[in-house]
Amino acid sequence: MESSSSATKQECELRRGLQEEEFFLHYQPRMNIRTGEMMGAEALVRWSHPEYGVVYPDTFIPLAETTGLIIPLGEEVLRQACLQHKEWEMQGLGSIVVSVNFSPRQIYESGIVENVATILHETGMDPKFLEIEITENVMIDVDHVLGSLRGFKALGVSISLDDFGTGYSSLSYLKNLPIDKLKIDQSFVFTSTSDMNDQSLVKTIIAIGHQLNLGVVAEGVETREHLVLLQRNLCEEAQGYLFSKPVPASVFKEQMRVWEGMVKERGVGDAENS
Ligand code: C2E
Ligand code: MG
Ligand code: MG
Ligand code: MG
Repeated sequence: MESSSSATKQECELRRGLQEEEFFLHYQPRMNIRTGEMMGAEALVRWSHPEYGVVYPDTFIPLAETTGLIIPLGEEVLRQACLQHKEWEMQGLGSIVVSVNFSPRQIYESGIVENVATILHETGMDPKFLEIEITENVMIDVDHVLGSLRGFKALGVSISLDDFGTGYSSLSYLKNLPIDKLKIDQSFVFTSTSDMNDQSLVKTIIAIGHQLNLGVVAEGVETREHLVLLQRNLCEEAQGYLFSKPVPASVFKEQMRVWEGMVKERGVGDAENS
């Protein structure tokens, strides 16, 4: 579809965007659906392109990966997320956990653990409030990945496995890798209340997580029915359009109580009693 010259042009654009600091973050709330508390925010990168307006990550992350530009972009994203956490801390919201997506290419990069340590140090971010999201695809090279993950854990950062159930999967790595949480892929959650096979998968993933002492987060929670199903099956956290799309950090503080009300309104207690 693309000629190599247009690929090169896009690469130049990406480089220029980085130089011009056109990348910024939106944050999507992560709700504790047992207590109703807003407990975290996933940082999701956007590109404010001078010509095309706001550009979403699915269109530029793959190119950033193949060109290696994901390394400087990833550093920029992590730095912004850490600085945002510091700001929240000053506003009394310091216990929010910020999660940041890392591509396989970033995990394989030598010196990645030191880079993360440097950014934590420079921004003054407490590592225990940072969560790194990786996907199953990094497991293609388990040996390589293990060193990085252990390094992150040694820094005090936690790790979640994103899009769980859709990637290159072998359950054996779950017991060998230092992972703290599973994130159930949204494709299972979307249809969990209409397709009984997907519902079974959601329940099974929650059970696997709990058996292995991992937390479980559901993504793509769009309806109250999704929420109730997850609560009945004792999932800990949920994220999705039911609560909010990813929003600028400024919106976060204003909306926090509204989101919490949505879980508390009819959720927690009801699900347990019904
Ligand atoms: P992801 O990490 O699995 O993030 C979830 C995506 O689903 C986000 O799309 C989010 O806006 C969207 N989403 C959340 N809740 C719902 C829902 O209820 N319904 C629907 N239909 N969608 C929902 P987004 O922001 O476009 O990001 C897409 C992907 O791009 C992310 O998937 C992640 O893999 C990647 N990505 C985003 N930011 C970064 C980054 O800073 N670094 C890297 N390496 N990858 C990133
Ligand atoms: Mg993610
Ligand atoms: Mg995901
Ligand atoms: Mg995804």
